[in-house]
Amino acid sequence: MAERQGQNYTIGVDLGGTNLRIAAYTRDAGLLETILLPTRLAAGRDAVVDDLCGAVNNLKNRFSSEFELAGIGVGTPGPLELPAGRLHNPPNLPGWDGFDLRCELEKKLQQSVAVESDANLAALAECLLGRGRTMGFDSLCMLTLGTGVGNGIILGGKIFDGAAGMAGEAGHATIFPDGPKCPCGNHGCLEMYASATAVVRTANQRVEGGTAPLLANEARAGQKWSARTLAEAAFKGNADARQIYTDAGRALGIGLAALVNTLQLPLYVLGGGLVQAWELLKPAIFEELHHRSYVYRLTEPGSPVALHNPKGATHVLPAELGPDAGLLGACILPFTANGRS
Ligand SMILES: [Zn+2]
Repeated sequence: MAERQGQNYTIGVDLGGTNLRIAAYTRDAGLLETILLPTRLAAGRDAVVDDLCGAVNNLKNRFSSEFELAGIGVGTPGPLELPAGRLHNPPNLPGWDGFDLRCELEKKLQQSVAVESDANLAALAECLLGRGRTMGFDSLCMLTLGTGVGNGIILGGKIFDGAAGMAGEAGHATIFPDGPKCPCGNHGCLEMYASATAVVRTANQRVEGGTAPLLANEARAGQKWSARTLAEAAFKGNADARQIYTDAGRALGIGLAALVNTLQLPLYVLGGGLVQAWELLKPAIFEELHHRSYVYRLTEPGSPVALHNPKGATHVLPAELGPDAGLLGACILPFTANGRS
């Protein structure tokens, strides 16, 4: 695929369970135009695919006279089998089990389409356009703390897909073996402690169980708990809310310690809505990392190894890109080795 800077454009699609976002992109200008549609899951997958392809064709008509189309990248909730581009019972796209997403899109659009999981694409964008670029690294491991905990691993500017496209599922690594049951079938996954959903569930359970009297007081006064209201309460000094973020940070630190010991990449990035509370999560994350990973202790910024060999240091930092990361990743996918068929 040609990479003439400024001449080519791509179309990226972020297929979510709630929204469908389709954008045209060039390397020089970034996002040229974004179309936002609701994902009409109730109308069936053919209707969603029609909406998606209609928007792609709309952007093609708009920009193809000005630029040359370098490719189309699509991000989807997983599990996604690669290289087939087939979905396997995706919890966020009910009724799509066994759907050959890549083949169906290629048939309808009459051209090749690169498909990847949304968390992998967020990691790709964060690596090439966000924190990775700022730090000067082309490899990273990202955890996206949203409704669940997504994960993506980028090695040398390329998504590490694993043998069948399913690498990068550290959100379902076991943190506490007897923890709550996860929709994936396991118990005590990272996702059950460190997602936006998890902190709200924990707050409500502690209020009901009588172990969070300060939150209970506010709940009686009409406060509804979301990840954001809990973070606001914690920043104001509510000790129960602070404890919930400390516990989420602890789970993240345990998960990150295993990732650092396994991969020792230069950069671990935390993104997603929960990371707005980075300052609340941070103390417990680094306490656990220190305690559980000698690799981290040896390579953290300021360590003798890091001072001697700055490229060998291990950095753990919040993401830079925000909620557009997945869409941007879909847009740049056709420019990367993963996007070439
Ligand atoms: Zn799980």
